[in-house]
Amino acid sequence: MTRKKLIRAFSLTLALLLVISSTACTKKYDGKNKWIDSNLPENTGSLSGIRLEDDFAAATCADWLEKQTYDPYDGNGSFKTAGRIVTEKKRELLNDTSVTDKNLELLRAFDGLYSDWDKRDELGVEPVRKYLERIDTISSLKDAEDYMLENDNNPFAVMLLQFGTVRAESKKDHFCLRVSQPSYSLGVSSIYALEQSEIEKKQENVTAKVSLVMKKLGYSDEEIRNTVSDCISFESKMAAINPGGDQLLNNAQIDGKEAFLARSSSLDLERILDHYQLGSTVNYTGDLTYLDGIDSIFTEDNLSGIKAYFKVCLILNSLQLLDKDTFDQTEILKLDPTNPYATVSVAAPDRYLFKTIRTSPLCGAMEQAYLDRYFDQRVYDDVYGILEELRDGYKEIIEEKDWLSSENKEKVKEKLDAMIFNVMKPSNEADYGDMTFSSYEEGGTLLDAYCKLNCFKIRHYGEITQMDYDRGFWDIYDTKSPTTQVGDQYDGGRNSIVVMIGILEEDIYSYDMTYEEKLGSIGTVLGHEMSHAFDSEGIYQDKNGDYTNLIEEKDLRRFNQKAEKVTEYFSGIQPFEDSDGYPSDNNLSSEAIADMGGMSVALRIADKKTDFDYDLFFRSFSRLWRRLTLKGDQIDSLRNDKHPLAYLRVNITVQQFDKFYETYNIQPGDNMYLPPKERIAIW
Ligand SMILES: [Zn+2]
Repeated sequence: MTRKKLIRAFSLTLALLLVISSTACTKKYDGKNKWIDSNLPENTGSLSGIRLEDDFAAATCADWLEKQTYDPYDGNGSFKTAGRIVTEKKRELLNDTSVTDKNLELLRAFDGLYSDWDKRDELGVEPVRKYLERIDTISSLKDAEDYMLENDNNPFAVMLLQFGTVRAESKKDHFCLRVSQPSYSLGVSSIYALEQSEIEKKQENVTAKVSLVMKKLGYSDEEIRNTVSDCISFESKMAAINPGGDQLLNNAQIDGKEAFLARSSSLDLERILDHYQLGSTVNYTGDLTYLDGIDSIFTEDNLSGIKAYFKVCLILNSLQLLDKDTFDQTEILKLDPTNPYATVSVAAPDRYLFKTIRTSPLCGAMEQAYLDRYFDQRVYDDVYGILEELRDGYKEIIEEKDWLSSENKEKVKEKLDAMIFNVMKPSNEADYGDMTFSSYEEGGTLLDAYCKLNCFKIRHYGEITQMDYDRGFWDIYDTKSPTTQVGDQYDGGRNSIVVMIGILEEDIYSYDMTYEEKLGSIGTVLGHEMSHAFDSEGIYQDKNGDYTNLIEEKDLRRFNQKAEKVTEYFSGIQPFEDSDGYPSDNNLSSEAIADMGGMSVALRIADKKTDFDYDLFFRSFSRLWRRLTLKGDQIDSLRNDKHPLAYLRVNITVQQFDKFYETYNIQPGDNMYLPPKERIAIW
């Protein structure tokens, strides 16, 4: 889900709204484009009079939508409201100086550096200079290797390889160190296999970004172009070693430390391990083809390319940590030039601050401080209880599926039983030891803070590789699943659900909501995640997350036929006038299957309750997905997001279920009506 905040001048938006509301009231009900895109601000003036029997999403949210003006800072909708609350709570934590602990002090020091835009503007791009100059002094391969390990000179710990941790394939009870290709200025290695013209377009964009800093530091256009082209030509050699390396799912195992160290003679791998306290790691895995090829690129001939690579990485990583002008220009350069409606992001300053923290190695400090203050055991128990109800409900649904053999039913239920629920609290506590950041008065900068943070991050991998593998381990330092994010996840590799504390906020959840409201909102969200264990991807992973067919061939074929029906259904939809349609590949089916699975299991639970208010339940579901999204954002979603647009998530999901038809007396001829034989829900 993209959470980009987009802005368009208010006056323009207002003008547009006025023009559209005075001219257009056309409701297009022509089969494939049955519903109005009620998430578009330009359509909110056309919603009155729409019957819920014809367009449930539009009719149930019309009152709310009509009152909204697009909020360029926080956006409009339940997830945006929750995000705003989390941001406010974080700010409250930083400002409440009566509470002191090491994590908060570190965060306050970072905030002091990040949020002082006057000082940032005064310094401009100067903080980068000393780091660039160090790279200029590199005169030999040995020196290049020294640079890679000089954390004080290399803020983003750029190396010719990258570390991470995964479960060991051969010794499955262990975590192991994963060694992969480093990141590339153009993204990932497979990009270098594109047509030359495509690469050149991307190179132009990188040149524009790098210019933002180098130009202000006095470099000539020619020097800048040469730096980027040297970098790209070195990167293309790196990428050529194993162009598909970025898509590796199952990494080959390396048999012990000695075998790992033997993979390169030019780069001193042992020194790198020792530097990051990874030396006692026993298990290794990674992109072996790339590792074996390092000697072919880490050569004197490539030294200028290597230096250019270091420089470009340094600058690209620094862009949003410098002055306001560089920050704003970078936002413009991030836009997709092929999206005619793309607009520049603007968010409230704190949103950027906390996003920067959440995606940085400092993430753990914020997560810990937030939990220390806001974790609520009652909420934990409540949510855990809903998850257990969903698990039981799902088992009943599986039991009734006549297309599954009884043997396969058992396997699916086993997977459900083995599913781990990680609710709100990661497994470990964040502790950054004696780390401190120097303030501007003390001569520090944001880049200096990153020198310490990235070193800390890599050393943390050393701690993990010493651990036995635990499917339920949720790392508080993991920027892929920070608990303060407004979200939740199903992790197929672990067969676990992670429920972040950030999603447990209004309008998505509050402890005092009625049961119907909870079930229609957070209940369907959690049911959605559970369904991912049995979607177009999950069906190929077993109860431990290992890749193997969960159910046998014959039933798998039936499952896939059903999944294809979902894809077909969506491929016939054009979400708004002039928009791209949904592509007829299976990308979307996983999320759509999960949406319908989440609704199915929530309804199953509702069935057991007496006097259950279905109207409130369905309205709560619609309210969950109400939102305003600019056209540029929607185009971006259609191209890059696996989730259907919000109004379709509501309408297509509810129209699969008898209870919806019963509750609102939906009849053939109503636009929400879908004949039973055309319904596509799998679970
Ligand atoms: Zn999903």
